[in-house]
This record gives sequence, structure tokens and C-alpha cells, in this order.
Amino acid sequence: MYRQTIVIVRIHCSDGIVGIGEGTTIGGLSYGDESPESIKLAIDTYFEPILKISDPSRIGQTMARIGRVVVGNHFAKSAVETALLDAMGKRVGLPVSELLGGRHRDELPVAWTLASGDTAKDIEEAERVLGLRRHNIFKLKIGKRAVADDVAHVASIKKALGDKASVRVDVNQAWDEAGASRGLAMLEAAGVDLVEQPIAKANRSGLARLAARFIIPIMADEALHGPDDAFDLASQAAADVFAVKIAQSGGLQAAGRVGAIADAAGIGLYGGTMLEAGVGTIASAHLFATFPQLAWGTELFGPLLLTEEILTEPLGYGDFVLKVPDKPGLGVELDPDRIDFFRRDRDRTRTHSFPAKARI
Ligand SMILES: [Mg+2]
Repeated sequence: MYRQTIVIVRIHCSDGIVGIGEGTTIGGLSYGDESPESIKLAIDTYFEPILKISDPSRIGQTMARIGRVVVGNHFAKSAVETALLDAMGKRVGLPVSELLGGRHRDELPVAWTLASGDTAKDIEEAERVLGLRRHNIFKLKIGKRAVADDVAHVASIKKALGDKASVRVDVNQAWDEAGASRGLAMLEAAGVDLVEQPIAKANRSGLARLAARFIIPIMADEALHGPDDAFDLASQAAADVFAVKIAQSGGLQAAGRVGAIADAAGIGLYGGTMLEAGVGTIASAHLFATFPQLAWGTELFGPLLLTEEILTEPLGYGDFVLKVPDKPGLGVELDPDRIDFFRRDRDRTRTHSFPAKARI
């Protein structure tokens, strides 16, 4: 990924501590309700007056106050709450995961997306990252071609990789219910482990019918925008697995509640991504580390896709996992030169002088 607009939030607290957060959308308004511009506008105009009169050590109360005057705007809320948690962690000397209830694990499995659509190319890429011991879970984005063609592509990849890897698909709502019935039967036969959002997010009863009919687990993604959706999906038995995303849920604490609802309902958990850079990715990692069960691992590979780095030290990927830092707060630091260089309002005549990121 050569271009991505990232909203970085820095909250300067009166005790001198600075917390950082990130709000990144996959494709701005072409994907969801928020864009980088709307995130910045919401924070500058509506969040800031509340933040200025709030005690930064009362994160729950501050976010509740914001919630009373700002509905929706989940990405903006997630970015601000992340910055408050980072500041709090630095203040008390604890990692964000400890503030969120304490971690159950120090590292998280990380899936990789195979998206070229070319079967041979995807197999080659999967073999390469398997060889590097980076990923052994692969998610294939499907839904653009005929159901039988898509499934044939996936089945060939699963056959080539065998038991060395878990192969899953994300249909991104592309199928209707009849197509999904055919597709799920074929994916099940091909040994695919998981199907993400096979039909439209609004068709929850359809999701429930599919979940009841097939053994292959169905994961809700686009249908899940926080605890209210989690409760409704769980009540309807409309998903076997939840893809939890901190931004889509409305922040780390809201995403934590999604996790609690899943646990109570016997629904599996998967740590999702909005393709955030290092700050949003590691914030997600801190939360996912606190989930008692995380049966399906995570897809926290955003920083691996980006050709540029914004942290002083890149996140720790290797041996099929992402390591969760144990330093206070998020445990990551923005590189001031890079942030300065990538700012939208920078001097466009400047060229960058820092070393290129290692390519995968
Ligand atoms: Mg998805």
C-alpha cells in the first residue's frame, strides 16, 4: 500500500503526558460512514471542548460525556480513547492491556490476505510467507466472480497448502442467500475453515439460517458495529464468530464489551483490522491480548502492507505472531520526522531522507 490517509491524534494532558491514537478508514466514505476529514472535523469541533474540561485520568467518564453529544463517529471515538488510554498507561507505568483488564497472552497470531485473484500467484505468496514463518493463516477476498469460479480458486489454494495453513474466505457481503448456500456447501467440502460476512450485513435472519444450516463457521464483520449489534447477532444466533474491530466498535472499551458478549454467547473471536498503521494496530493488539479466548487469531497486518513506517521502532512481527509491547501505554513511539514529512499540510517541495522500509 503506497498511499493511506491516517488520522493521528495527540492529546497533551496538563501533567505533561502526551497520548497518541489513530483513526484510519479503509477507503473513506467509499467504505463506511467516516472519512479522515470527518474524523478530524468531529474531534476538532465536537470532542475538543469536552476534552478540555475533562480529567484525562477519567477515561470512562470522558468517553461517556463525548457519547452524549456525539452519536456514531466510531473511528473518531476510537482514536481519542486510544490516546487517553496511552496517556493513562504512561502516567501509571502500565501497558494499555493491563488497564483493560490484563492480558491473557503476549503475542497474537496474524493472518495474511491473499488478494491477487490469480491462483498460482496466491499460492506462491502463501508459500513465501510460510517459509518466512510470518503467517500460516490466509484470508482470501472473494465474491467478485461467479460462486463456482471463486470456490475453485480457494479450493486450489487450500489443496496446495494442505494442513500447513488455515485457509479462510471473506465474501464482503457479495453473495445473496441462494448463492451463499451453494458457496458454503462447496467451501465446506474444500476444507475451508471460516467464512466472513457471506451476505449483506442487514440480512441477519439470512445469516442465522446459514449459520444453522452449515458446519463451516460464519463470521460477522460488516454487521458488527459495537455492543448493540453484538447483542442482536448473538440473540439471533446469526454468527459463530465475531470479527472485533476497535474503530468499528467505537473504541477499545466498546470492543471489549463486544468480546464479553461473544464469550457469554459461546461465539468465537477474531481480531479484525481497518488496515491501521502502527498506532491503531498496536492499540487493537493490547485489547485482543485481554480476550480470554481468541480462537481465530487476528489480522493485524496493516503495518506490513504499508510501504512507509511512522514509528521509531516497527512492530514486532515474526514466528507467525505479533508481539504485544510491555512498556507503559501503547508501548510505541511516533517518529517525529516521518510524521512531519507525511503531514497533509507539509511543504510539498521536501523530499524524504529516512531509509526506505524493508520490503516483504
Ligand atoms: Mg471483512
